[in-house]
Amino acid sequence: EYILGIETSCDETAASIIKNGKEIVANVVASQIESHKRFGGVVPEIASRHHVEQITVVLEETLEQSGVTMEEIDAIAVTEGPGLVGALLIGVNAAKAISFAHNKPLVGVHHIAGHIYANQLVTDLQFPLLALVVSGGHTELVYMEKHGSFKVIGETRDDAVGEAYDKVARTLNLPYPGGPHIDRLAQEGEANIPLPRAWLEEGSYDFSFSGLKSAVINTLHNASQKGEKIEPANLAASFQESVIEVLVTKTIKATKEYGVNQVVLAGGVAANKGLRAALEESFRELKDVELVIPPLSLCTDNAAMIATAGSVFYQLGKRSPLSLNGNPGLDLEKALV
Ligand code: ATP
Ligand code: MG
Ligand code: FE
Repeated sequence: EYILGIETSCDETAASIIKNGKEIVANVVASQIESHKRFGGVVPEIASRHHVEQITVVLEETLEQSGVTMEEIDAIAVTEGPGLVGALLIGVNAAKAISFAHNKPLVGVHHIAGHIYANQLVTDLQFPLLALVVSGGHTELVYMEKHGSFKVIGETRDDAVGEAYDKVARTLNLPYPGGPHIDRLAQEGEANIPLPRAWLEEGSYDFSFSGLKSAVINTLHNASQKGEKIEPANLAASFQESVIEVLVTKTIKATKEYGVNQVVLAGGVAANKGLRAALEESFRELKDVELVIPPLSLCTDNAAMIATAGSVFYQLGKRSPLSLNGNPGLDLEKALV
């Protein structure tokens, strides 16, 4: 079985071909980071225009790399949401055109389901499992009883963790996207600046990062008013420590409460070295639970993850109509409908 996956939800134009739901045959990602950098974030109109310019080239290169013909492809999987509507539409329309022209089934995929299923390219998923999703737009703990079943047991009430990283980076005058820069700085600094941890109510698996972000900004502001100097590396390390402590503690608690066999990390912030190390350290004691962390290239946006999730959805019988639309507010729990 070969699935062609297409991803255009944000600022990466990507296509991939996956064999039997787990083997990467071809994987092409055209990043637009350079075009958005000078604006300090993704500009939706620019993203859409780049997707239009890139999508055909990316698809041609993917097919060429794979050595697979369109006739051999079993289905077209595409990110239908969430994401920027104008960006999503480019991928969805490309997928619909290919599906129609080659008479292949179309399978819409939820972007976050894709991030989670990136782990299936690393190992076989063992259910029930818990996914810690940490990306530019999402921070969630997702319980999966079986393939295609997603229950959000906790989510952020304000900023996503990636968003907080990018905003903190901006206050420190680091280039966009700031996550990797904060991560690198944090390794060099000492976490000696007191910052809050948002635990929320007892028993809640929800997250909140806007208070922490404001605390970082206030710390810088107060210091500069007093003419004191804050070491950026120490601030980055303190920020990162607060983020990681909350993420890891809630993940461990949910792991025990839900009795899962596997915990998988997903989303762009899964590339964070500090988070990866802290999770590995904490899970060493939980001998019955397997921790899965994807390689960096599968953490940030790509189409291999969309094709892999698409393969599972296709096997479970999901078919999307040619009237499929981009849906910026798509619900993960209804990903299979
Ligand atoms: P979503 O998946 O929620 O729709 P997105 O697709 O924009 O959002 P991703 O591409 O999954 O997000 O992740 C991008 C985010 O990951 C950015 O906020 C970026 O700063 C962050 N990120 C990437 N590498 C690291 C790192 N090493 N440490 C912290 N954050 C990182
Ligand atoms: Mg991106
Ligand atoms: Fe993403």
